[in-house]
Amino acid sequence: MQQLSDRINRLPVSETLAMAAKARELKAQGKDIISLSLGEPDFNTPDFIKDAAIQAINDNYNSYTPVDGYLELKEAICRKFKRDNNLTYTPDQVVVSTGAKQSIANVAMVLLNPGDDVLLPAPYWVSYSAISILAEANYIEIPSTIETDFKITPTQLEAAITPKTKLIFFNSPNNPSGTVYTESEYRALAEVLEKYPDIYILSDEIYEHINYGEPNFSFAAIPSMYNRTVTVNGVAKAFAMTGWRIGYIGAPAWIAKACTKMQGQITSGTNCIAQRATITAVDAPVSKIQYMVDEFHKRRDLVLSLLKDIKGMEANEPKGAFYVFPDISYYFGKTIHGITISNASDFSMFLLEKANVATVSGEAFGAPNNIRLSYAASTEELKEALRRIKEVLN
Ligand code: GLU
Repeated sequence: MQQLSDRINRLPVSETLAMAAKARELKAQGKDIISLSLGEPDFNTPDFIKDAAIQAINDNYNSYTPVDGYLELKEAICRKFKRDNNLTYTPDQVVVSTGAKQSIANVAMVLLNPGDDVLLPAPYWVSYSAISILAEANYIEIPSTIETDFKITPTQLEAAITPKTKLIFFNSPNNPSGTVYTESEYRALAEVLEKYPDIYILSDEIYEHINYGEPNFSFAAIPSMYNRTVTVNGVAKAFAMTGWRIGYIGAPAWIAKACTKMQGQITSGTNCIAQRATITAVDAPVSKIQYMVDEFHKRRDLVLSLLKDIKGMEANEPKGAFYVFPDISYYFGKTIHGITISNASDFSMFLLEKANVATVSGEAFGAPNNIRLSYAASTEELKEALRRIKEVLN
């Protein structure tokens, strides 16, 4: 008898990865699928980073690394935090992991007890809720809509806090909405949290550099929040290094130490070559990756203008990241080309079947009226995808 644990049975599949796998499978069957599902830059890793990796191989970096990462890398990350975020961290406050996803899982595992409450301003990235489930915590969504540019208010935050609240996730620029919180908005939320000293904050800043003008503000830069905030970042999105799997945290030293302990029993130190290459990446001036950000910016404008021509796909203007997150609830209850659409998953499957375009349903992001389209795809693909969507809907 195949008897899996309750833990894995409770865990939902990652919708982003599942949709990407489905698109890949259909493509392999010969279908002309355009995948706007996965949030993954379509650029190559810049040559100066690849060169650093090749150099590391030739220099025989092949042994186990310290569990929390090479000291040289942690020092480079501290320089980056100072330069980009005005955050002072020392290497004992930094842990390097196998992607920001592992960084987040470490933090959840070391902070949460079964039955603790986790606050998730919605929409939120699919794995925040799943990782909370894995940690046997309860997650509480704080809803937001296009009308407020998908931002939560201090009043909403305070109303969601319970005696069991232990952790809140912030993510700016946000996946999936592209929303960027301003410094004053973050300070207003911090004022509420100041009254609740037992709540910790995970600030996921992985899209920091994919930003179209709104200055990035790190939550831990608020002095009263510094000792309670874990800042998560990585190189996947900004440096087109998704497959290299490097994420990291800056955190109070006691949390960093616990994450290292956790990681020491699960994965050990992450890949040695990727770590060496990441020293070069995080030390590089941001100007070296600006060409990718400029390109994403153009694509955002293209997708927004094409969406305007499609009925019932109202979107906010994303200020960062590389997703648009239109509200498609206009289609709920309608039957199109013989398919009845009752929810966002139906709509997403409809687009896959009838337009050959892969998207991700908003349900897994805590926003059941929306779908996510990633515009980390070529201009040609984006134009064709939006043309197909328009054709099947209009
Ligand atoms: N974070 C990206 C996304 O949301 C990559 C897939 C994942 O890990 O969820 O699409």
